[in-house]
Amino acid sequence: MTGFQSSAPGARDVAAATLGKLRSVPALAERYSDVVVLDSLEDLVHVPVMLKDDLNIALDHLQPRAHEGSTWMFQSGGTTGAPKLGYAPTGLYMNEVHEQWKPLGPDDLFVNGWSAGKMWGGHYLVAAYADLTGCTGIPLGAIGKAEYDAWLEFFLTRRVTAFGGAPSTLRNLFGYAREAGVKLPDLRSVLWLGEAWHPQLDDDIPAVAPNARRWGLYGSTETWVIGTNTPDCPDDTWHPLPSQLVHVGADGLIDFTSLKPHGLNPVLRYQTGDAGEWVSCECGEPGRALRLLGRRDGVVQFRSHNLDVDATIAELTALPGVARIQLRITSHPAKADTLEVLAVPTRDAGPDLADNLRRHMCGSGFGPGVVFHNDPTCLTVTLIDSPVMNERTGKSANLLRRQAA
Ligand SMILES: [Zn+2]
Repeated sequence: MTGFQSSAPGARDVAAATLGKLRSVPALAERYSDVVVLDSLEDLVHVPVMLKDDLNIALDHLQPRAHEGSTWMFQSGGTTGAPKLGYAPTGLYMNEVHEQWKPLGPDDLFVNGWSAGKMWGGHYLVAAYADLTGCTGIPLGAIGKAEYDAWLEFFLTRRVTAFGGAPSTLRNLFGYAREAGVKLPDLRSVLWLGEAWHPQLDDDIPAVAPNARRWGLYGSTETWVIGTNTPDCPDDTWHPLPSQLVHVGADGLIDFTSLKPHGLNPVLRYQTGDAGEWVSCECGEPGRALRLLGRRDGVVQFRSHNLDVDATIAELTALPGVARIQLRITSHPAKADTLEVLAVPTRDAGPDLADNLRRHMCGSGFGPGVVFHNDPTCLTVTLIDSPVMNERTGKSANLLRRQAA
């Protein structure tokens, strides 16, 4: 067994057609020259994995068009790298999601809090989903802190039952609502996608909306929705859609193959950088579920040393007085890179927080500690009021990069 099995109708034919499309791309022809036919899905084991740049090259050449309806083009990324492109037809494939995932129904009043515009898919994807549920929708988009009071009052008086957004958005809004003493007793569903869940939300949401439970979607602009998550599933565990062939490699890295008959993105063993393992989910749903184990590309080079971004952030966030940590690497024209630890303190943080963070970074627990020791000026710790957000997507990345002016 190779781990390439699917019950999706016509699965082999769809994968073979995608292979044919990729072989027709001149810049990729050699890459796929060893694989001529797929006699069965098991033959995918011979197909090389595909990365972001390969998909961008293929899309550039293929210029996909929808089989029916219109073609929509989205992009993500850009916070830490080149944009990732994705195409989708009218409806954004949400029929299949609606079959499997039911956080909303006709009685719901749903606020879509994903930021809209600028080619980011989250807002439109969830709007397409909401369209299938018969709910009443409120296309709010991203809002700033100065607007929170007015909108929270609106949610309360209109008796909003469902709210959705990227976890960064949810953290800001529910954290604010909790501090302000706002209660939303009618809220029963919190929808999330775009980032990992954050444990702080497990404290803040019950304090604000005791009847609310979380419902997640996992995917990317290139793969579209891969899996769904219910309140009874752990927040890192996903039930894949039938049209998504998910494969976990020997190295733990996951690759995805789209088995949608009229799918527009030629996704064939596409690696997003996420690692995972197969588990049976605590919710009791039969069949195997995918547990995510974080990104394997979270290790970056800083002055020739490996800096494990996720591990560093996890260690620093565990220190007392820390609400949120981001790392920012700045490239300079005439000297080596510098690293900045951006820390959002908790309300009860002590005055020595910045010193503690600095001491921890310089300690022996981190590979680059020796760098900070040799050149103390290459590390700064900055306390900030709220995380640095990408204005386009409303997401706050763990690692930020910028060029010095
Ligand atoms: Zn589950």
